[in-house]
Amino acid sequence: MVTQVTSKDWRPIVKAFEQAIGKNGVIQKREELLVYECDGLTSYRQRPAVVVLPRTTEQVAAAVKICNQYNIPFIARGAGTGLSGGALPTENCVLIVTALMRQILDIDLENQRVVVQPGVINNWVTQAVSGSGFYYAPDPSSQIVCSIGGNVAENSGGVHCLKYGVTTNHVLGLKVVLPDGSIMTRAAKFLKCQGMT
Ligand SMILES: Cc1cc2nc3c(=O)[nH]c(=O)nc-3n(C[C@H](O)[C@H](O)[C@H](O)COP(=O)(O)OP(=O)(O)OC[C@H]3O[C@@H](n4cnc5c(N)ncnc54)[C@H](O)[C@@H]3O)c2cc1C
Repeated sequence: MVTQVTSKDWRPIVKAFEQAIGKNGVIQKREELLVYECDGLTSYRQRPAVVVLPRTTEQVAAAVKICNQYNIPFIARGAGTGLSGGALPTENCVLIVTALMRQILDIDLENQRVVVQPGVINNWVTQAVSGSGFYYAPDPSSQIVCSIGGNVAENSGGVHCLKYGVTTNHVLGLKVVLPDGSIMTRAAKFLKCQGMT
């Protein structure tokens, strides 16, 4: 059942987020929300009502389900370096930020595959495999700060992409939280790494 939200009744919603994600994964103080009011496109700003910082896919799904239950718009944000306003909040929205989803889950050098959470920073993938002679080719110039989730959404790339292709050419699978909060997996092994030549 969808519950309509007015400007006054965020408390039960925040409580539901805290139960699903933990108190330290929910931000609602006005001054702490300031940093989330825009991405790299700083001409446009809108403070979100609440920011949630899940650590797992299941917590993302729980947050999306709560948004659905209360009919609240939600927007994903990685590192917030996007230049097209994709992570720009709308009024009274919930921002789902992947900054705490920073685990490299699996490295399979034999098959040149890496599985990461979406908040992993682009350059960390190369750092994780470079000792074995590999690197992750898509290299936006923001690669020391931008996240893989943001790279996938924006299909980001840099100079290596002239030879090896952009992000879509390196993503072999995704675990996706759908707008109703269900989880869909389309995967073999997720990111492809190149051998160094
Ligand atoms: C100095 C600078 C240099 C840059 N250079 C380049 C460059 O060379 N090449 C290039 O392509 N881009 C470049 N960019 C743009 C930007 O860094 C990229 O678009 C990057 O991929 C954004 O990643 P992010 O983690 O910051 O994403 P965010 O800005 O947080 O989000 C970008 C979009 O992705 C969505 N998103 C984020 N995470 C998820 C997720 N887990 N699931 C679903 N949707 C998600 C957001 O809703 C938003 O629409 C540059 C930006 C800066 C500031």
